[in-house]
Amino acid sequence: MHISAVLTPEKVATDVKNSDLPKEWDVIVIGSGIGAVTAASLTSKGARVLVLESYLIPGGSSGFFERDGYTFDVGASMIFGFGDKGTTNLLTRALATVGQKIETFADPVQIHYHLPDGLDLKVHRDYEAFLQELIQIFPDEAQGIRGFYNEAWSVFNCLNSMELLSLEELRYLIRVFFSNPMSCLGLVKYLPQNVGDVARRHIKNPALLKFIDMECYCWSVVPADLTPMINAGMVFSDRHYGGINYPKGGVGQISQKLADGIEESGLSHVQYRARVKRVLVEGRRAVGVELVDGTVLNAKRVVSNATRWDTFEKLVPEEYVPPSEQGWRKRYTKSPSFLSIHLGVEAQALPPGIECHHILLSDWTKLESCDGSGTIFVSIPTLLDPSLAPPGHHIVHVFTPSWIEDFSNLSPKEYQEKKEAMAQLVISRLEEVIPNLSKYIKVKEVGTPRTHRRFLNRFDGTYGPIPSKKLLGLLSMPFNKTSLPGLYCVGDSTFPGQGLNAVAFSGFACAHRIAADLNLPLFT
Ligand SMILES: Cc1cc2nc3c(=O)[nH]c(=O)nc-3n(C[C@H](O)[C@H](O)[C@H](O)COP(=O)(O)OP(=O)(O)OC[C@H]3O[C@@H](n4cnc5c(N)ncnc54)[C@H](O)[C@@H]3O)c2cc1C
Repeated sequence: MHISAVLTPEKVATDVKNSDLPKEWDVIVIGSGIGAVTAASLTSKGARVLVLESYLIPGGSSGFFERDGYTFDVGASMIFGFGDKGTTNLLTRALATVGQKIETFADPVQIHYHLPDGLDLKVHRDYEAFLQELIQIFPDEAQGIRGFYNEAWSVFNCLNSMELLSLEELRYLIRVFFSNPMSCLGLVKYLPQNVGDVARRHIKNPALLKFIDMECYCWSVVPADLTPMINAGMVFSDRHYGGINYPKGGVGQISQKLADGIEESGLSHVQYRARVKRVLVEGRRAVGVELVDGTVLNAKRVVSNATRWDTFEKLVPEEYVPPSEQGWRKRYTKSPSFLSIHLGVEAQALPPGIECHHILLSDWTKLESCDGSGTIFVSIPTLLDPSLAPPGHHIVHVFTPSWIEDFSNLSPKEYQEKKEAMAQLVISRLEEVIPNLSKYIKVKEVGTPRTHRRFLNRFDGTYGPIPSKKLLGLLSMPFNKTSLPGLYCVGDSTFPGQGLNAVAFSGFACAHRIAADLNLPLFT
């Protein structure tokens, strides 16, 4: 028992100034995105953790903002990880670590696709209903469709039969292997594989393969050939197992409740308006952080929830950036950001029976286009939780990939004009699904990649790292430990990548790795 290694409790007032924060901590976490799961998990085991968030509220890309009675999700709205069984329900589990729970609304359809050549179909929560709909469109591929999606289930069943912790911790790996040898071998087999190769083993029809590309692109922002099979196993199966569930009160509630639980522990603390300027290094070891206001805080371990670029190009002094980062920068590149349109609309705008989440594309060659002519993502969360909008109104969140470079070096007037023109193009395309939408808009807020960079504190507003070339599945994705001793990374720049449930996995794994390194009896 080494619990005496952690610092003794000293509750921090919620309104304390940065300069008055206690100076010594077990762990400092930079950022309160979903990566704050690490803080929650370590707190639950008795470690004293300080979360430093530069913004006013927690959540980062899973945060929210309010306008004229509407509560808008800034990013994510299609939420995995709220199931009530298995081990992959990591958001449910993360909240439970700090005694929190969120009521959710089950979504009967994950996505309604509106794709080129009239390919129109829904991914139902019910697996067989989804397969039947797809097979009806591609009857000659019935066997291939089942073969492909069943392979995704094989991956998922392996993951869902083991506790998802740090793959960098040998004792855990040995324990998991001996309790689930078949699952582990199954995962090892899929770890280096990408979806495209698996899909082509089962499916020949080019139109169906394009659909599989979109099935990947809509969450990995790369086509099937670059999408790791492990991630696809989670997404393609969990939507039918734990399902897609929307948190009551909006997605922002997830991070808010995590932060509440961290505070209520009386042990750890979340400090807002606390922007970290740099990671402090002594004797080639990360020992704390310095905030932009000059406050210096020390910790036995430092965790960065910022993107890999923000961490190693801004926070870690250049002389301490490990050479291995050069290799990472060659393997991965930044994905585009998004142009995000947040609309408050009159209820009569919506056709009866419309689903919550939609993907639109009118030309396969534009799958990855970033000028408004490419893939459009739509969420209408008020169909599940009407409390997010004034009575008789709905939220329509529409976004499409966009590069920050396209919004750079513009005069304020040019910037506004470009933003408005791209928003109009996207809204007019959406009118194929929601006719005359423009007539019913009451509130409109448009965010560009620059907005994402500013408010989400993400390098160029990027959605996250994507492979710069075909890699061996997830094998190249970095885990939580970095080559700078004492510094860890958590979040969507680490294994297994983007998405709230994936980041929660990274959060648990990071906590587990730190617990092992601090020699705390936390996860054995
Ligand atoms: C438009 C959009 C739609 C999406 N849709 C979905 C979806 O439907 N489903 C889904 O699962 N995922 C979705 N995602 C992806 C998902 O939101 C992200 O992968 C996930 O939220 C990333 O979490 P994170 O904790 O890694 O990082 P972030 O959310 O980026 O959190 C990092 C935090 O660190 C803080 N920070 C950074 N630097 C500093 C510093 N120097 N000092 C102090 N604080 C700092 C930031 O302010 C931020 O709060 C979407 C993302 C976007 C942008």
